[in-house]
Amino acid sequence: MSFTSFDFHADVVAGVRALGYHAPTPIQKQAIPPVLAGRDVIGLAQTGTGKTAAFVLPILQRLRQGPRGRVRALIIAPTRELAEQIHTTIGDLGRQTRLRSVTLYGGVGITPQISRLRAGVEIVVACPGRLLDHLGQGTVRLNNLEVLVLDEADRMLDMGFLPDVRRILKHVPAQRQTLLFSATMPDDVGRLAREVLREPVTVQAGHTRPLETIAHALYPVGAHLKTPLLLALLARTSTGSVLVFTRTKHRAKRLAQQLQRAGFPATSLQGNLSQNQRQASMEGFRSGKFQIMVATDIAARGLDIALISHVINYDVPDTVDAYTHRIGRTGRAARTGDAFTLVTPEDGEMVRSIERRLGGRLERRALDGFDYQAQAPEGMDFSRARALNGQGQRRARPPAEQATANDRSRASRPTSPKVAPAADRAQTAPGGARRRGRGRSRARA
Ligand code: AMP
Repeated sequence: MSFTSFDFHADVVAGVRALGYHAPTPIQKQAIPPVLAGRDVIGLAQTGTGKTAAFVLPILQRLRQGPRGRVRALIIAPTRELAEQIHTTIGDLGRQTRLRSVTLYGGVGITPQISRLRAGVEIVVACPGRLLDHLGQGTVRLNNLEVLVLDEADRMLDMGFLPDVRRILKHVPAQRQTLLFSATMPDDVGRLAREVLREPVTVQAGHTRPLETIAHALYPVGAHLKTPLLLALLARTSTGSVLVFTRTKHRAKRLAQQLQRAGFPATSLQGNLSQNQRQASMEGFRSGKFQIMVATDIAARGLDIALISHVINYDVPDTVDAYTHRIGRTGRAARTGDAFTLVTPEDGEMVRSIERRLGGRLERRALDGFDYQAQAPEGMDFSRARALNGQGQRRARPPAEQATANDRSRASRPTSPKVAPAADRAQTAPGGARRRGRGRSRARA
C-alpha cells in the first residue's frame, strides 16, 4: 500500500515525499481513511508509530480548501515538547499547502503567541493551560473549529488535565470532527471518549513494535550500585544517543552531573528547568552535543529523536504504560533500539507486570567484571562509586578503561551514533532467556 491510495491532493503528497515516507505505517493505514471520511476516531497508538502524520495528513487535506485566517483545527497535547513536534510535522508535511500553525504553551512569553494568532493561523497546537489563558483573554477564538484532536489523551489525564480539557470543550462547536489518540485505554480515557466523540471508529496499531524492533534487557543490581553499573554499562556499550530515565527531577539533575564528572557529554531534562534550559537540553541532545540525556517521565513525554539507540531505565517506572512510553523513545520509525532496565530486588512486582504486558520473560544480564558484591558506604560519592566498579576498592579508572578483554577493543573506539556492534550481548546472565531472536541487523542507519 502506498500513500497514493488515499487520494491526497498533490500539495499534501509533496509533504509526504519531502519527509521520505514510502508507505503508511499500520496506524496511518487504519486511521487515515475514516478521518478523511469525516468520522470521529479513537486511535490506540503510542508515539513512534507514525500517529502524528495519521491525523496531520487528513487535516491538511481538509483545510487546504476553505477559508484562511481562522482557527479550523485544534490539537491539544500534554507537553510543550510534543506540541512543538506536532507543529514541526505540520510545517514539514504541509509546506506546500501554506496552512499556518502556531504552538501555545506556558513557560514562554504570551505576546509572540498573540502576534502569531493575530497574523492569522488555521491550526493551533496547544497545551491545555496556556490555551485556556488565551481563551480567557479572547486572543484565540475556536468558534470556526472543524477538527479537534486530543493527542496522548491518557497522558493528558494522568497529568490532571481533565478539568482543563472539559473547560476547553465549552469553547468549541458541538458540530465538529474529534480525534482522540492514546497509547492505552484506561477507564477515564474511555469515559472522556464517550463524552466528546460521536460514534467513533476505533483503530489500533497493535503492540508489536516494542518487541520487534527493541531488545529489552534487565540488569539486576543492588540499589547502591546503580550509578557505578550505569557508568560501566555506558563505558562498555557502543551507543548512539542514550536517554536515561529517573523517577525524580532531583535524581535526573544529579545523575546528569555525575555523568558529566565521569567525562560523558550529558544533560538533563526535568521539570525544574526553565523553558530556555529545556530547549537548550533538547537541542543539544538532538544535535549530538550531548550524547546522554537524563530525564523524568513527564519531561520526556512524546520526545521524537531519531537516533536514540538506547533507553536506560535507571529507575524502574511506576507503571507498565510508563515503561512502554519510555522504550518508545528508541526503535522509532523502523529503527532498532535497546532498552536496558536496572532492577533492584524491590522492583520485582513491576518487572513481573512489564513481562506480562510484553508477553514473556525478559533477558537478565550481568555485566562481566562488575563487582556486584561491593558495599556502598554511607554518602558514597561518584569517584568512590567508580573506584568500586570492577576493581574492588583498589583504584579508580576512567569508565573507558573498565572493559573486559572481550570488550576492550570496542570500548576504546569512539562512540558513534552510526554503529552498535553486538558485543554487549555477551553478558547474558546464566539462565537468562534471550528475547532478541529475530536476527536483526545491528547497524543503525
Ligand atoms: P510519531 O509516532 O508521530 O511520533 O512518529 C514517529 C516517527 O515516525 C517520526 O519521526 C515520523 O517522522 C516517522 N514517520 C511517520 N510516518 C512515517 C512513515 N509512513 N514512514 C516512515 N516514517 C514515518
